[in-house]
Amino acid sequence: SFHKSKGQHILKNPLLVDSIVQKSGIKSTDVILEIGPGTGNLTKKLLEAGKSVIAVELDPRMVLELQRRFQGTPLSNRLKVIQGDVLKCDLPYFDICVANIPYQISSPLTFKLLAHRPLFRAAVIMFQREFAMRLVAQPGDTLYCRLSVNTQLLARVSHLLKVGKNNFRPPPKVDSSVVRIEPRGPLTPVNFKEWDGLVRICFNRKNKTIGSIFRQKSVLNILEKNYRTLQALQFSEKAPSDDMEMALDVSTLGESFGDLSMDADDGNDDDDIEMDDGDTKRAEFKEKVLAVLKEGNFEEKRSSKLAQADFMHLLSLFNKAGIHFS
Ligand code: SAM
Repeated sequence: SFHKSKGQHILKNPLLVDSIVQKSGIKSTDVILEIGPGTGNLTKKLLEAGKSVIAVELDPRMVLELQRRFQGTPLSNRLKVIQGDVLKCDLPYFDICVANIPYQISSPLTFKLLAHRPLFRAAVIMFQREFAMRLVAQPGDTLYCRLSVNTQLLARVSHLLKVGKNNFRPPPKVDSSVVRIEPRGPLTPVNFKEWDGLVRICFNRKNKTIGSIFRQKSVLNILEKNYRTLQALQFSEKAPSDDMEMALDVSTLGESFGDLSMDADDGNDDDDIEMDDGDTKRAEFKEKVLAVLKEGNFEEKRSSKLAQADFMHLLSLFNKAGIHFS
């Protein structure tokens, strides 16, 4: 009896398990982190390939079954099982993470791993196919979105393997893919909150031009509010230093990717609400924003085609003009 709510879909194809382990590039000296080991089909091969496995499993029944499976075998002293929610526990040191995870934790888990230090070599993870394709999407691809940009800011990602639903018991509703994620170090120096603030706005309507996105009243309002707040702070000399909050606070980058349909876009450019230019201060601010877009030649560009370096450039132009996204 498997728990659907815990995303329990057991890998039943031994050839596929072999293939995942082989493509992971595990070394005999590796400490391996496995998330959601379930009944241990993958765990067994990981134990044979690496030095040790630390497995985090939520379901106490699975923990018992796993311990029973390896009890009295030579593999058991190289396996450590932690019972708990991987999203809530402190992760131990590991060299590589290999896992067939419950899909509902895909996004928070990815960003939790990417915030983990010391850096690990790679994470090789089974995801729902569409989530996987979003992770690896490049500018111009249909699925290119905030998740692609934020993940690729922190990691190199590549698609390893397509996996059909019939490789699992019970079969999930969707196909899957195994993805390799290699954290980047050192990271690009950028304030992640600001970065994500910009990227969120740009991908809210990713097929519109940047020019029309930044003419939206709602967007201008937010930016102007930030601008005035910061000015007031600077006036009272209590301004927070401009130093990057490089500390590994990447938490916001992973928020709200649960709903894969979130950045659906009609691609329609006509429904913009233009702001009322009556207020001089507001009109001046709008001109300031548009001047930034002109300077970088961004007005006619679309987020769906912008690369990481373009977003970085746009953010630095905004910041230079005193315009901030957090
Ligand atoms: N790795 C096994 C396999 O491939 O056969 C099982 C994979 S199954 C898709 C996901 C496993 O993750 C289940 O055993 C489930 O109990 C466990 N799980 C679900 N949520 C979890 C969480 N938040 N933290 C740790 N494990 C979790």
